[in-house]
Amino acid sequence: MTMTTGRPASALTGPGAALLAAAQAEATLDRISHVRLSSVVLPLGAPVSDAKVLTGRQKPMTEVVFLVAEISTDQGFEGVGFSYSKRAGGPGQFAHAREIAPVLIGEDPSDIGKIWSKLAWAGASVGRSGLATQAIAAVDVALWDLKARRAGLPLAKLLGAHRDSVRTYNTSGGFLHTPIEEVIENAGRSLENGIGAIKLKVGQPDWRLDVARVTAVREALDPDVPLMVDANQQWDRPTAMRMGRIFEQLDLVWIEEPLDAYDAEGHAHLARSLDTPIATGEMLSSVAEHVRLIDAGASDIVQPDAPRIGGITQFLKLAAYTENKQIEIAPHFAMEIHLHLAAAYPLEPWVEHFDWLAPLFDEQLETRDGRMYVSDRPGLGFTLSEQARAWTVATAELGARP
Ligand SMILES: [Mg+2]
Repeated sequence: MTMTTGRPASALTGPGAALLAAAQAEATLDRISHVRLSSVVLPLGAPVSDAKVLTGRQKPMTEVVFLVAEISTDQGFEGVGFSYSKRAGGPGQFAHAREIAPVLIGEDPSDIGKIWSKLAWAGASVGRSGLATQAIAAVDVALWDLKARRAGLPLAKLLGAHRDSVRTYNTSGGFLHTPIEEVIENAGRSLENGIGAIKLKVGQPDWRLDVARVTAVREALDPDVPLMVDANQQWDRPTAMRMGRIFEQLDLVWIEEPLDAYDAEGHAHLARSLDTPIATGEMLSSVAEHVRLIDAGASDIVQPDAPRIGGITQFLKLAAYTENKQIEIAPHFAMEIHLHLAAAYPLEPWVEHFDWLAPLFDEQLETRDGRMYVSDRPGLGFTLSEQARAWTVATAELGARP
């Protein structure tokens, strides 16, 4: 009788095996040696209002504050990631990231899931969602950027792409502070620039204005142009149902955030009652919050935001869950990150086109024929611009430059 050990006969044993293993480990092992965190304040051209402003709950938005993480390793690899906040939270995200970031030094940047856990435990006292998670997100995105750059691949390819471009729609032209004539002009310009669909803000205190504006745009554009509307959580349940029924005639791609972001039961009732798909999820700040709404049947289209839910690591966990349930996704904002994640999602998503972030980077995304294209640049494919440096209001550095 022959005993087998499961080891090939040619396998090295003894000191030779140890040396080979050490050489292999040497080839793949790297260490995070330096981290720079920056708080970058991006001014907007004009104050921006959605329904939350018209109902008096928020002030017009004048800037977006970015938490940028730049990570360098012993072997000379680099990654850049970002998270963001609107209206409030920028200094808090930066402060939390600065407190937990020391645990990064010396970690192997390839072990992203392990690092995510380590950062979460470092700040566990303030929770595993919201601002705490968003502070981790900037680092997590930087680590994925670094891993893809190291592999010499665009992030979409590192993850495994289903397509090289993703359909895209414009949001920034259809805010509520913009007169309807300008909204129609903006829509025309977006379509000329290769964007494939138009989203309009609704949810005004006078519902008749919503109907008038959306109808005006519908009539001004080619009937084949896909349209969406976004109420930014400002309807109550009866109003959302009435508005949803009125908008059924306009063949919308979706109705976004008709209700409070955490109203799972209300969204589920709408999703069951209307033919127009219900989209929601941009305000949620963890995978667990998304799962609660998904399990309630609240959304036909889930709108995750990687920076808001803890970065790419968490987004991929959520994407596995939505794919398993055959749910479409339309990631919110941050197209520079979401283009890659959307390209790697089996059911074709929509990516939200916002050109606000363009001044932060030296490179721009290509959009044509209604689609946004993944570039062949490795990683996310972006480098921070001099303008981003000029808008930096705070930095923190940890470790030593290699
Ligand atoms: Mg929205």
